[in-house]
Order: sequence, then structure tokens, then C-alpha cells
Amino acid sequence: MSEKIGVYVCHCGSNIAGKVDVEEVANWASDLPNVEVARDYKFMCSSLGQELVETDIKEKGLTRVVVAACSPHMHERTFRGACARAGLNPYLFEMANIREHVSWIHEDRDEATAKAKALVSAAVHRVAHHEPLEPMRAEINPATLVVGGGVAGIQAALEIADAGYPVYLVEREPSIGGHMAQLDKTFPTLDCSACILTPKMFDAGSHKNITLLSYSQVEEVDGYVGNFTVTIRKKARHVVEDKCTGCGICTEKCPKRVVDTVFEAGLGYRKAIYRPFPQAVPKYPVIDTENCIYFERGKCKACQMFCPTGAIDFEQEDEIVTVEVGNVILATGYDLFDPRKIPQYGYGRLANVFTSLEFERMVNAAGPTGGKIVLRDGVTEPKSIAIVHCVGSRDKNYHEYCSKVCCMYSLKFAHLVHERLPEAEVYNFYIDIRTPGKGYEEFYHRLLEEGTHFIRGRVAEVTDAARRPGEEGKLIVQAEDTLVGMQRRVPVDMVILSAGVEARRDADEVAHLFGISCSHDNWFIEKHPKLDPVATMTDGVFIAGCAQGPKDIPDSVAQGAAAAARVLGLITQGEVEIEPVRAIIDEERCSGCRICNTLCPYNAIDFIEDLGVSRVNPALCKGCGTCVAACPSGVITGAHFSNEQIMAEIEGILVSPDGRETVLVAA
Ligand SMILES: Cc1cc2nc3c(=O)[nH]c(=O)nc-3n(C[C@H](O)[C@H](O)[C@H](O)COP(=O)(O)OP(=O)(O)OC[C@H]3O[C@@H](n4cnc5c(N)ncnc54)[C@H](O)[C@@H]3O)c2cc1C
Repeated sequence: MSEKIGVYVCHCGSNIAGKVDVEEVANWASDLPNVEVARDYKFMCSSLGQELVETDIKEKGLTRVVVAACSPHMHERTFRGACARAGLNPYLFEMANIREHVSWIHEDRDEATAKAKALVSAAVHRVAHHEPLEPMRAEINPATLVVGGGVAGIQAALEIADAGYPVYLVEREPSIGGHMAQLDKTFPTLDCSACILTPKMFDAGSHKNITLLSYSQVEEVDGYVGNFTVTIRKKARHVVEDKCTGCGICTEKCPKRVVDTVFEAGLGYRKAIYRPFPQAVPKYPVIDTENCIYFERGKCKACQMFCPTGAIDFEQEDEIVTVEVGNVILATGYDLFDPRKIPQYGYGRLANVFTSLEFERMVNAAGPTGGKIVLRDGVTEPKSIAIVHCVGSRDKNYHEYCSKVCCMYSLKFAHLVHERLPEAEVYNFYIDIRTPGKGYEEFYHRLLEEGTHFIRGRVAEVTDAARRPGEEGKLIVQAEDTLVGMQRRVPVDMVILSAGVEARRDADEVAHLFGISCSHDNWFIEKHPKLDPVATMTDGVFIAGCAQGPKDIPDSVAQGAAAAARVLGLITQGEVEIEPVRAIIDEERCSGCRICNTLCPYNAIDFIEDLGVSRVNPALCKGCGTCVAACPSGVITGAHFSNEQIMAEIEGILVSPDGRETVLVAA
């Protein structure tokens, strides 16, 4: 029986019609093989556009549908839905992308129209070979894994747990809290960071539906949406949690002091057995085995001797925990840009150049200086401070993007200096002041009235080359003031580098583990930057907070809640549909060579020993086609990507209906 194909060419307003003669494409398509009807329409994705398809399927008995419009990423589901509503199997549909692949990238109307015809022809040839497919259904395990216990992860975990579902919250540091726990005041309201975060940390640590796995890291992930099996390494704390009361005597008695490069950002000290900060959740300390005298030299054991409950266990080993979950939320946050990469700013070489996180710890009443703003000697109060914006951000040599929070936290720092050292002069060296947020611009105006000097221009260098009288011991900040067009040379006692935020150094490893992707600057990629910012291309894996890109606390919290809402939506459905686009092995002809087993990036192919053949687990297979291409016997078929379908598509793109070669334009 010959097929009856309907072709629909979308104008997308002027997005496509501005560059492609859509009427001409539709007329031309009506002569393609098996085409029953070809139409053009202003907005195919509108309900009227979809109804057009549905009516033709019913009235003209269409057996295949092609829509030439935007990217399938955008609207394939929309048109598959229209087919299904009219009673046609949704996989008997094909989309030709004549917007991103044609109208948006070509200038010449004739060439664009010719290419649109070629893509429509390819789709028409291909769709004739489509097979009806049925999606599979999988039950959803109601438990969720949240990776990262910063404010975004905590929010996500609490939302799901409060809705009555179990959560495993995995945090690699000894305590949850993330960067927010390090901050002093938070812009623009200047709330005390710990005061607003600690209640949430406590709730997350004591919630009956949350299993907190701190000092832990995910090692392996198997499975698919609804049914993930996750292997987690719970590192040995060398403290038995059931016995420890968190009294802190062990830390007090420990004789080994170590620079705290994590929580105190290198500005303060901790002991070898330590709790990162007083409000840490959980409250149990951890032994840093690399610095513990007992682990180094086999003697000491002061902590064990003084522990009143016998909670210290030097023999404790890492524990491997396996959990089954239906969904995953990745909220692994950010790293601070390392300003050593910009040697002309002197960080690491000039003692009184500080990073922003160091300054956060310095101004914190619970921090290493007890909240006093002092030079590296620990006593001298600076009389002048330069705050250098955009360190590592908005700079093609490092990160082209804006880190979004640095302008605001630099203004916050200026305010805190005025509050604590009213006599000190504060200079903000900025490129532009960016304050898009509720109450942010008002905060900036408040700062303008507090007497901060604003100098517009990127700092060229910070040196200790003080030459003039009265400059002894000062740092010299050199910048071009672009508002007045002159060089500025400002001697100051202290420089704070407002370093940008960047993706975690291990972001690509974490992404690989969970089968998601990173952008070129290593942030986790969302499914759609505007319309689906917390989902990823891997079903059941969501992202939240700064792991997705730079953002402030309100936006991180909002994303944590949004990711939780998406997960709850899936949990309450009870089951999910899984795409039937997957690989199928012809077991009769499989030689059992196992090449596909090792190549499959999703571990979706098992070797069946009894039969000596390989078999695809359809729930794990993502239809990527690696095995199809690699099979030396050619016995693996990709459903929806069969050889016939691909060859027909190529034929369609190369041959026009009258047998002449189509002119193709290189994109
Ligand atoms: C100097 C400075 C000052 C700032 N001041 C403000 C302010 O005043 N107001 C404001 O709104 N915003 C401020 N911000 C921004 C704020 O820090 C972030 O918006 C917020 O911390 C983002 O939270 P998060 O949970 O996404 O990430 P993070 O805080 O980075 O938390 C991520 C967590 O994930 C854990 N983790 C990472 N990788 C793994 C892994 N593989 N496995 C398990 N756990 C992992 C980390 O240990 C961490 O606990 C400031 C930022 C900086 C740099």
C-alpha cells in the first residue's frame, strides 16, 4: 500500500518566511512521492496549525506527516501529540528544521528556499520508511537523590521531604551549607547569612524523610528515569556517629593545627580533628588523616584518650552505600576563580591582596579575625581599601561571562568597611555596575551616599612599587579611569579581588557520571535555557543552583524549589513513558563478539552467557547509535534510525522530484 504523506511548511511569523519562500516550498513539496497534501501556515505550532494536521489525518487518511518548521528539540513533541490525537502513531512523523538550519543562517532567499526544499524532500523520503513505535512505561521509585548540600540542594531536599517522599542528600564535605555558610551578611538586605541558613541546615539534617550522607561522594550510577541505582562512598570520619555527642573535646585536645583552606579560605586554622564551623550539620567532627599525628606517625591518640563516649575509631573504614532512587537533582555549586591566574594582580605574592571569600571570612564575627578588618599581619587596620571588580569574569582571557554576584558583593564589602572602619577610604574599580535584582539598584544608591569612590576602569596591575613620600608599605593600584580618560594610580593598604565564580573543577566528571553535558565553560547544560532551565537532556536528572551557572542566593533557592517541583510531578504520576527510540540486536545473527558491550556509554547491553549473544536493556538504552555503528556483523538496528530510513533521507536530500540534483548551500 502506498503511503499518504501530509507536508506542512511553517512561516514562524517572519522567522522562516522572512528568508524562505514557504509557499513555493509547499507547492514544490506537493509533487514529492506519496505526498497527498502540502500546505503552508503562519504558525504551525498554534492550536489552529495543529488542528490542520489533525483534520487532514482524519479526512484525507494521511499515514505519515512531515512538518517543516523549527528545531525538533522545540516542537517535535507538539506535532507527535497532534498525530496521536488524530489516531496516527506519533513516530510516523518527521520534522524538517528550516529555521535554525536555514532561515536563521542564510542571507540569500533563493539559496535558503532551495535548501528548505532539500530538507523537506529528505524528511518526506525518510518518513515513508518510519515504523510505528510504542513507548515503554516504567514505574517511578519515589526516593530522590540530591547531590550537593549548598542552599540549592538543601532547598530541593526539603521541598521533596516536606511533600512526604524520601530523599538521600549527598554532600562531599563534612557539613552541608556550601558557600552560603561561609558568608557574613547577604546582599541586599544584609541579613546574617548563618542566621537564615542554619535553620534550613538543621531541618535538612533532622528531617525524618531525609537521609543525610555527608563526607560522601557518588561513585557509580546505573539505571534510567524512575529507577536509578547509585553507589555512594561514605568516607570514614573515624568518629562513630552513634556515640559522638558533638561535645568538641576531641578538637580542643588535638595538638595539630592546620591551615583551613576550605571553610576559612586559607585565612584561619583548624585542628586535625575538626568540625568545619560551629553550626555544622551533622555535628560530628572528622579526622583529617593527612594531617593527624597518629595517622602520620602512629602515636598521639589525644582525641581518643579524652573522648568521653569512646567515639573515636582509628580503624573505621569507608562504607559503600547503595541506594535506589527515581530521580536525581545535581546542586554541586561553584568554585571561586583562582586570581593567581592573573599574576599582575599580585595575589599569593603581595600579602595584602585578598580574595573575596577571604574577605567574607575576615568580616565574619565567627571568622579567623573575629570580624576585624585587618592586614595579613593580623593587627593593622587598613586606612584605604581597593575593591577590584570582574576578576576572571567579563574577560576573554579567563571567563567571558559575567559572574552576576560580584558587583553586588563588592558593594556589600564597601558597606561593611564603612560600617566597621568609618575613617577608611574605599575605592571600587569597576567596568560597569550590574545590579539586576529586587532591591539591588537601591542598595547601589545607598552605597553612593556612603562615600565610596567609584572608578570606572579595569585595573591593569597591583604592585608594591610605592615610590612617593607617604606611600611606604602601600599597594599601588593602576587603572585607566575611562570616564575621565586618564590613568589613575591609587595607593591603598589592602586590595580585595572580587573573583568571579566558575564551574566546579570536577564538573565534567560529575556530568559524565550522571549522563548529562557541560557547556564549553563547564556549567551543567539545561534542557532548554529559557523554557526548561532545571531539566537536562537525561530524563530524571535535574540541576539547580550555581551548578547550572552563576547566580545569587534567591535564584539558587528558586531553582532548588523548581527542580523539586519537577521531581514531585514525576513521583505523583507514578510512572513515566520511556522513548522507544533504542537499539535492537538480531540475536539469531549476533556472533557474541561483545564489542557493543564495552562501547555502550549507558551500560545498556548485557552478554547472555547461555545463548552466547548480546542483548539490549531497552530501558537503559538511549538510542545513541554507538553500538549500531560499531557492530562488525551489522546485526544491530537503531529503531527510528534504521539503514533504510537514513539512506532514504540522504537520497531525499540529494535528489529533487524530477530526478535532478538539488543545489545545496553549505551552512
Ligand atoms: C564572595 C561571595 C559573596 C557572595 N555573597 C552573596 C550575597 O551576599 N548574597 C547572595 O544572594 N549571594 C551571594 N553569593 C552567591 C552565593 O554564594 C551563591 O548564590 C550560593 O552559594 C549558591 O548555592 P549552591 O547551593 O548553588 O552552591 P554552593 O554554595 O557552591 O554549594 C554546593 C554544595 O555542593 C557540594 N558539592 C560539590 N560537588 C559535590 C559532589 N561531587 N558531591 C557531593 N557534594 C558536592 C559542595 O561541597 C557544596 O556544599 C556570594 C558569592 C561569593 C563568591
